Amino acid sequence: MKPLFDLGVLPIRHRTSKGFKPHVSLVFNAGKRLTFAVDTTNSRSQQPDAYLITHAHSDHHGKSAMMSENAVCSKETAQALEILYGKKYAGRTFSIGDSIDIAGVSVRTYPTHHTIGSCAFSWENEVGTKIMVTGDVKDSKDLPKCDCLVTEANYGDPDDPKCHFEDDLDVFRESLGSKDIAFGAYSFGKAQRAVKLIRDSGYDGAVGMDPVSTALTRGLMQDAGQLVDLEADSGIKITTPDKVTKLKAKNKFILTGRKDFKFPTINISDHMDVNGLIGMTKQCAPSAVITYHPGGNRPLKLATHLRKTGIYAKALLEINTILEL
Ligand SMILES: [Zn+2]
Repeated sequence: MKPLFDLGVLPIRHRTSKGFKPHVSLVFNAGKRLTFAVDTTNSRSQQPDAYLITHAHSDHHGKSAMMSENAVCSKETAQALEILYGKKYAGRTFSIGDSIDIAGVSVRTYPTHHTIGSCAFSWENEVGTKIMVTGDVKDSKDLPKCDCLVTEANYGDPDDPKCHFEDDLDVFRESLGSKDIAFGAYSFGKAQRAVKLIRDSGYDGAVGMDPVSTALTRGLMQDAGQLVDLEADSGIKITTPDKVTKLKAKNKFILTGRKDFKFPTINISDHMDVNGLIGMTKQCAPSAVITYHPGGNRPLKLATHLRKTGIYAKALLEINTILEL
């Protein structure tokens, strides 16, 4: 832990009576001792100075963190959380690209192009360490250099063929040439990515969607075009992967990198593959990396790989400072 000690960053794992959570909080000094919780659930026992919510996917736990006044997320993420969970967002919001003051610390925000509203947070502690927390990342082009990178590792295993991929954009465009199409895409993130690709292709007809996907797409996209319900007449329909199987449509595709679906799949991902993650690390040039998300062993695989290339890296499960909740 020496480099993290020298950098003045103390990462903490969370444990309850049920075991470890895939959660990290960062403790640092900036005039006073502060704790920023990263994509964690709302703790009833110990309130951090901030709940940083990188985006509104459920495995980043905004559903409970949104109930705290200490929650901080982009305007779009707050809007998506309210649509997804039917609750009022209680925290603070910002426009991505803005700097915000959190407990006296100036925190900068950067787009990560993963979902609408997804962003990375970056700030300095009192020894001048620039800490950056990424959340999930599709494109790291806007991320700056930092000293301590806290990154996702969704596709972080260099030895797993599933962690090497590129988007099948040509196959997706080709699929739009057929009539009566239905795409299976998760309501938040993938569905909006699909609508954007469909509109960019020049299709300006109606797109049929289920109610949650419609609310998110209408609420979060300015140029979604005409959206209708799934029963209405439309050349293209989008709904969740489980519902698309029951839809009446001649040509069905699931937009995913996974290979365990019965229907044809098209690889359109909201993530970078492992080469993207390694490239982001090179670009941000940190002295220390913490891989914190998701659960499972991919954060460890990425940290192990980074260590082989001479970078100091720790996966969340190698961190032995523990917060008992
Ligand atoms: Zn996500």
